[in-house]
Amino acid sequence: MSTDNQDSFIVEGKLALPYQYFAGETGSSFLISIRDEKKIKGLKCEKCDKVFVPPRSTCERCFSDISKNWVELKNSGTVTGFTVIRYEEPYQPVKPPYILAQIKLDGSDTPITHIIKGVPLSKMEVGLKVKAVFAKKSTSTIMDIDHFRPGGSKPKIELGYSYDELEVGMSASFTKTISETDVYLFAGISGDFNPMHMNEEFAKMTPFGTRIAHGALPQSLIAPVLGMKLPGLGTVALEITVRFKAPTYFGDTITATGEIIEKLEKKRWVRMSLNWTNQKDELVAEGFALVIPPTPLPEK
Ligand SMILES: [Zn+2]
Repeated sequence: MSTDNQDSFIVEGKLALPYQYFAGETGSSFLISIRDEKKIKGLKCEKCDKVFVPPRSTCERCFSDISKNWVELKNSGTVTGFTVIRYEEPYQPVKPPYILAQIKLDGSDTPITHIIKGVPLSKMEVGLKVKAVFAKKSTSTIMDIDHFRPGGSKPKIELGYSYDELEVGMSASFTKTISETDVYLFAGISGDFNPMHMNEEFAKMTPFGTRIAHGALPQSLIAPVLGMKLPGLGTVALEITVRFKAPTYFGDTITATGEIIEKLEKKRWVRMSLNWTNQKDELVAEGFALVIPPTPLPEK
């Protein structure tokens, strides 16, 4: 039988090779401080001003002996690259799928490789701030750092729209039904127990013929618009003016809306028109606001 010009049979297989090696003086010292002190150390070359983690006894740039020049690092860092492990193999530290990332610890110039937990695979991104979570039970290996999880030294806060992102015409709303409980709680907050809000029999004698909410109650519904939607988290309100147009009755559903009408270039403030409507689309109140949009938090 000839095998010329015929497909060859390929049998695929995998070899698992158990092995061990001596971590060496440098590697041992590194692992011991993680195990016993929960501290991650690196070696620094003063000449090159570089910190190596995992540590190496010789500087990779100038070949100086730096084996005694230990520096302590923070247990936090930044993801510089990552992959998602989806295949299963013996000896994996955790069950796939999991994220294996390059993490540059704060104060280090080289990354270490470790596992990231606590982030959905779809949300994983380069630049993520992470911190080390140490294992409860030691194995005297790098797995004494159990994993890294999100949460650097500065929390990631999603601020609202900055001055530059805001455009005239952008608008946002918040809607809520005003209940008797809301009115009663608001009376407690403000100290305004006026019987026109509290006492139905008294209220029958007023021009409204029934109890109405405090004017400031529907008015306050603009706060979630400015502070949480437009411009959003980080906004500072400088001025809010309101003109009341119609009463808010118990059970009314009020929609507070803010719209950007002017950008004040010099101050980097924005002016907004405000309106409050009820479920019948009647105008309950209208006004204006002057706000400072969020500015990025200073780096720590
Ligand atoms: Zn060097």
